[in-house]
Amino acid sequence: MNDFADDYRPDQLLSDLGKRLVSGSLTDRQLLAQTAGPVQQLLPDANVVKIGGQSVIDRGGKALLPLVEEIAGNLAQHQMILGTGAGTRARHAYSVALDLGLPTGVMSVLGTFVSMQNARMLHYLLAKHGIPFIEPVQFPQLPLYLVERRAVVFFGMPPYTFWQQNPAVGRIPPHRTDTGSYLVSEVFGARSMIYVKDEDGLYTADPKKDRNATFIPRITAGELLALDLQDLVVERAVLELMQNAQHRRSIRVINGLVPGNLSRALAGEDVGTLITAE
Ligand code: ADP
Ligand code: MG
Repeated sequence: MNDFADDYRPDQLLSDLGKRLVSGSLTDRQLLAQTAGPVQQLLPDANVVKIGGQSVIDRGGKALLPLVEEIAGNLAQHQMILGTGAGTRARHAYSVALDLGLPTGVMSVLGTFVSMQNARMLHYLLAKHGIPFIEPVQFPQLPLYLVERRAVVFFGMPPYTFWQQNPAVGRIPPHRTDTGSYLVSEVFGARSMIYVKDEDGLYTADPKKDRNATFIPRITAGELLALDLQDLVVERAVLELMQNAQHRRSIRVINGLVPGNLSRALAGEDVGTLITAE
């Protein structure tokens, strides 16, 4: 027996909260309330940037190539975790799957592979800058890639595939690439979450369908949900998740078809729409 063993008191290994967690129920509201507290910001210098599928990538070179140059031009100043949308090909896959009577979880699998196609295209365009494509299983290497190469490309879909929840209405997976990207920014305590789309930000209605839609430069997620707009520029799930955010309490939506907007957003300038948790 050494001195250390003499000091060893198994009953003292657990904090008071630890004892309650070990003996209590993890569905007890009172106990759960005691588990709140500060959370570490794991990658505070990384910016999560989601490149829209239908809004940007599907437009091809005219939209994407200048953006690729702009991303490359920002590598020296900014770390970027680049997520990709799925876009029109996913919508086609969803329509066939709906016709075939396939469940939401299977549609989520399909969307994952389309956002993967877009991630591969973006990644090969950035390959000469040494930017890797990473799958969820490679996320533990993310810190190394960010320090060494400044950016990575991932597919924006959350990797829960057929564990995807059913939506309240209809059958389209409610957590798609906006949500997957947001969750990455939240869990790593990223510096920012920037959505690169094809409109100047959020409007009172889809500006492609309503000429009277007015621009909203800044709004809270709660206010926006309360407005109950017919259509939104980001997935509704992002606004819902933001309300319980520990870290990523604001998101920005910018027009990636305007050169310089991404650089301005990365620099922290007030471009596009800022949606905040409160
Ligand atoms: P992504 O390409 O990232 O998947 P989406 O196409 O799903 O993006 O969403 C962006 C589109 O949302 C815009 O191109 C715009 O036409 C549409 N949209 C719908 N409602 C709104 C709104 N209230 N404000 C701005 N854009 C909107
Ligand atoms: Mg979308």
